[in-house]
Amino acid sequence: MRPRALASPALHRAVHHALQWIDGLDDRPVGSTVAPEDLRRRLGGPLPQSRTDAAAVIDELVAATEGAHLGSVGGRFFAWVIGGALPAALAADWLTSTWDQPSALYRCGPAASIVEEVAGAWVKELLDLPRDTSFAFTTGCQLAHFTALAAARHALLARTGWNVEADGLCGAPPIRVLTSEHRHGSIDRAVRFLGIGTRSLIPLRTDADARITMEALDDAFRESHGPTIVVLNAADLNVAAFDPFAELIPRAHAAGAWVHIDGAFGLFARVSRAKRSLLAGVEAADSWATDAHKWLNVPFDCGICIIRDRAAHRAAMTVSASYMSPDSNARDQIDWTPEWSRRSRGFAVYAALRELGAEGLEALIDDTCAHCRELVSGLGGLPGAESVVLPQLNQGLVRFRDPAPGAQDDDHDRYTDTVIQAINATGEAFFSGTTWKGRRAMRVSVVNWRTTSADVRRAIEAARLVLSTLSLTCATSVD
Ligand SMILES: *Cc1c(COP(=O)(O)O)cnc(C)c1O
Repeated sequence: MRPRALASPALHRAVHHALQWIDGLDDRPVGSTVAPEDLRRRLGGPLPQSRTDAAAVIDELVAATEGAHLGSVGGRFFAWVIGGALPAALAADWLTSTWDQPSALYRCGPAASIVEEVAGAWVKELLDLPRDTSFAFTTGCQLAHFTALAAARHALLARTGWNVEADGLCGAPPIRVLTSEHRHGSIDRAVRFLGIGTRSLIPLRTDADARITMEALDDAFRESHGPTIVVLNAADLNVAAFDPFAELIPRAHAAGAWVHIDGAFGLFARVSRAKRSLLAGVEAADSWATDAHKWLNVPFDCGICIIRDRAAHRAAMTVSASYMSPDSNARDQIDWTPEWSRRSRGFAVYAALRELGAEGLEALIDDTCAHCRELVSGLGGLPGAESVVLPQLNQGLVRFRDPAPGAQDDDHDRYTDTVIQAINATGEAFFSGTTWKGRRAMRVSVVNWRTTSADVRRAIEAARLVLSTLSLTCATSVD
C-alpha cells in the first residue's frame, strides 16, 4: 500500500509563500508583468502521468505564476471594486479549505451551519435591515441577485395564481424589470438566468447625478401595472450613485412592485454614521444584494442576499431529496442558496466581523472614502488632469487632457487611456478606465483596508511622473 502523503510540508510551503507575498506587496509591481504566452509556457505541458511531491507542486506553482498576480490585496490597487482580505478573514478562509465541508446541510457541516446563522444575523444588524428577513451567502452579488430575483419571481407570479417552480414561465404573466440605465451587468444576467429575458428590462432615465427620477418611474407605471420588479442602485460603480429610495420605494410598492437593491459595495455605507443618510429609506425594499468580498474585505468569494419574504425565498430555492432528513433545529443552507455542495462561506465573514467589530468596519468605510477623496483631488490637481466626479463615497473619476495643441475630446479620450496604461506600467499603482457620459475617464475606487495616506501619495507621485514624461514626449514630437 502506498504510504499516505504527509500534508504538512505542502502546507508549510504555502504559509511561507503566502507570507512572502503579503510582505512583498509594497515592493512588487501592482500589475501583472507577464504575458499570457509566457504563462502558458510556464504552466502548460502534457498531462502529468505520475506523482509529484506535494510541496514541490506548491513551490513550482508559485514560481510559474510569479509576476502574474494582480496586487489587489495591496494598498495601491484602485481598479474596479475588488477589496482585500482582512487577516482573520484570510486565515479563516484557509481553515475553511482545511475543514473542507460541502455545508449544504447542517449534518454535513454543523459548525458551518451555525456560524452562517450567526454571521447572517450580524450582517442584518450591521446594515440595519429588518431582522426577520431571510438571508443566504452566495458566490457573489451576481448569485445574490439571482437568488433574490428568483424569490421575487415566485412571489409576483404566486399572486396571479401561477406556480413558477412547478409550471415554469411558458404561459405565465410576463414580468417587467424596471431598473437604472446605470445598472450593473449582473442584473441583466440574473434576469436571463431566470428566464425573464433581457427584453423585459426597462432602463429608467436618471438625473445628472445618475439617480433614477420619480418621473421616469411614474411614467413606467402609467404604461403597465403587471407583475413588476424594480431594481435600484446602492451604489452604481462609476460614481457611487444612490437612487432616491425614500421617494421611489413607496411609489413602487403602491404599484404592487417588488423592490430589489443592488448594493454590492454601497450597502455597507449604512455602517458609517457620516454616510448612511445617502441610503435613507433603503430599508423599505423587499430584497438586498451585497458582497462580503468587496468592502467587508473577505477573500473571494462571498456574496450576501437578504430577503423580506422568507417564504418566497425558501420556496424559490428549497429542495427535498430522499436521502436528506433535515435537522429541524438547524439551518440547511441548501434551502436558501442556488448551490448544492458549496464552500462554507460563513467562517470568513464571521472572522471579518469579529476582527473589526462594528466600530472597526465604520472606520474602514470612512478611511477608504477619505483616501478616495485625497486621491481624486490629488490626481485631479496634477497638470494636465481634471477631476470629473469628486467622490461622495469611495468612487471618483479623473480625466487627462492631451497637451497637443488643438486637441479635441476624442484626443483627450485616447490620452486618458494612454495615461492609465502608463501609470499601471510603472507598477506603482493600478487603475481601470470607464466611459462616463460618453467620455473616457479613469476610475478611482478605494475598497481595501490596507490603503494608507502613504499609498495615496505614492500613487499621485507615480501619476505626476507619467504626466510630465508624456507631456515632454508630446512637446518634443510637436517640435
Ligand atoms: C461587483 C458588482 C456586482 C457583481 O458582484 P459579484 O460579487 O462580482 O458577483 C454587482 N453590482 C455592482 C454595483 C458591483 O459593483
